[in-house]
Amino acid sequence: MGKILAVTNQKGGVGKTTSCVNLSASLVATRRRVLLIDLDPQGNATMGSGVNKHDLEWSSYHVLTGRSAIDDVIVHSEDAGYDILPTNSDLTAAEVELMNLKGKETRLRDALKRIQDRYDFIMIDCPPSLNMLTLNALVAAEGVIIPMQCEYYALEGLTALMETITGVRQTLNPRLHIEGLLRTMYDPRISLTNEVSRQLISHFGDQVYRTVIPRNVRLAEAPSHGKPVLAYDKNSRGAIAYLALAGEMIRRHDIKFKTQREAVS
Ligand code: ADP
Ligand code: MG
Repeated sequence: MGKILAVTNQKGGVGKTTSCVNLSASLVATRRRVLLIDLDPQGNATMGSGVNKHDLEWSSYHVLTGRSAIDDVIVHSEDAGYDILPTNSDLTAAEVELMNLKGKETRLRDALKRIQDRYDFIMIDCPPSLNMLTLNALVAAEGVIIPMQCEYYALEGLTALMETITGVRQTLNPRLHIEGLLRTMYDPRISLTNEVSRQLISHFGDQVYRTVIPRNVRLAEAPSHGKPVLAYDKNSRGAIAYLALAGEMIRRHDIKFKTQREAVS
């Protein structure tokens, strides 16, 4: 069964989409089967995967509102190497429409049930708010990846997110856990970055990925070519960092899986 991970942080511009796209492409490079779900009406992950959001007949909006079957909407991205459930601004309407639909928080989870076993990882790119779309992602997911910049207000924003995750765990999705906190656009020459990074590790310990994503211009350029950085400049520091992150994630899974098996036997 594919592991479903939501990439989320209600703060905009922290590297959610960049991480979702490039981590997905890096997982493909390690021969994992990956589906990326774009749940942000801005459609940046869609465009960044080489799918034109303006040409879409169907999108994640149609899946969430029950207008299309998920199979009819998923497309394959050649450049990225993964499948994608694309989106565009149509999805803005889903926020309001979902309020009047049955099972409004479980729509994504229900849609994924049928296709989950076709993938090793299903990565969800969330919008920059804790709205009904993000809630659908948190209910469908097993783990949450939280990208963040090590700046002054970074930790403050995390409190609201942690409360939301705890709330979802207590009600709709008991298995939800923090998969990892990811330090993005990292510049160790800035002393505040180091200070916030230290605080983050003292609060969250092992939940913070050891891999850090450096500020790298190739990561910012790649989306305008409709490609993950691996397909744009595979030798860049950004590409190498996301490959390392995929490796760290997979190692963590293997260790966890082994520990669980040993506990059973
Ligand atoms: P979010 O999805 O959280 O809003 P994005 O992934 O879109 O954030 O990133 C915000 C902006 O920062 C984008 O222009 C993106 O290209 C750029 N960016 C993200 N990560 C990096 C990085 N590591 N180095 C340089 N630019 C980055
Ligand atoms: Mg985004």
